[in-house]
Amino acid sequence: MKLLLIGLDGVRIDLALPAVMDRVPGFAEPDHPADPRFAAEPVPAAQSPSAPAAEPAVDADPAAEPPSDPVAEPATAPTAPADPLAPTLARLVDGGAILPVWMTPPTDSGPGWASLLTGTTHEQNNVWWNEFVGHRLARTPDLLSQVFFGDPAARTFAASTWDALVSATSAGPVIHQRVDQQIGGQHQLFAATDFSRGCRSADQQVRTRAAWTLNHEGPDAAFVYFEGVDEAGHAHGSTGEEYRQAIRDVDEHTRYLVKAVSERYEQLGEEWLIAVVTDHGHKDEGGHGEDEVQVRRSFLALHAVGPDGAAERLRKQVADRSVLRSEHVTPLLLELIGVRPGTWQAGHEVGQLRDVPSVGPTRDLRYEW
Ligand SMILES: [Zn+2]
Repeated sequence: MKLLLIGLDGVRIDLALPAVMDRVPGFAEPDHPADPRFAAEPVPAAQSPSAPAAEPAVDADPAAEPPSDPVAEPATAPTAPADPLAPTLARLVDGGAILPVWMTPPTDSGPGWASLLTGTTHEQNNVWWNEFVGHRLARTPDLLSQVFFGDPAARTFAASTWDALVSATSAGPVIHQRVDQQIGGQHQLFAATDFSRGCRSADQQVRTRAAWTLNHEGPDAAFVYFEGVDEAGHAHGSTGEEYRQAIRDVDEHTRYLVKAVSERYEQLGEEWLIAVVTDHGHKDEGGHGEDEVQVRRSFLALHAVGPDGAAERLRKQVADRSVLRSEHVTPLLLELIGVRPGTWQAGHEVGQLRDVPSVGPTRDLRYEW
């Protein structure tokens, strides 16, 4: 099974797909507390940095969550509104599943995508802001690289409006370059260049390039990222027509990509897992970065393109996953497409860099060579 992961930056699922808010209880409240350092309200001077979050956690243990139904059954789906903002996303979910994802503040895009795309926490990848200073991304490989590590014959593709996800000259990038694989066309990276109409033109460029590559080359794992909704949220807030139109636009881009891989199933019999995720929502007035519920709320939409029964199989596979955190997304996607992470039982601490002390010779002849 091949993988297409679509990243839609800054999408409020409560606005894009309001029906799932009632249908899936896990969307109501975060499953884990936010670090008070990243609270929307400034931390009082007297409060210790280690004090509990201002907003009480509902439950820190996902296993103890009240049972929820992440599966969207077509038969019970509410009637679509007259002007659905995201008809493609709705169709993907109606024929698949949607899981709540709760982001861990800071909810900037850099830490969000670094966590979603590598399966690691902020502490593990050390990405806390959009500058990526001091990041440890070299040792926290991205989803596509993990597919490659699973089988070095794998072909991978990423296209992005935001250069920090794919470009070697950016502050990141989150997706590894893997130059050796690029030389032979086994790993392709595309960063948008046409910002003549801001992210709207750049997203169109990404869509067109990605749809072509997906349709004609069918990479084993692909990531395609659109930024238009986030741009609209920052410029106009998330309650107006501009934000709504931006959701319609990226939903239409999503349709192009779904169409591209569906045709490959129709013509070639290739099975695909399509996943759609966001890195954060937006405040009503626009903006993100802190711990507001509508900012921390994300989602993972899943849809299997394959023979009869593929949707049912997918739903069964995720039936016990009521709520996810950002670092759970990559491991789940790898599991669903059948990639197991590499292991090394070397008997020592892997990856630790240590120098020998400048103590001079001990004259212990066992170590004199
Ligand atoms: Zn973002």
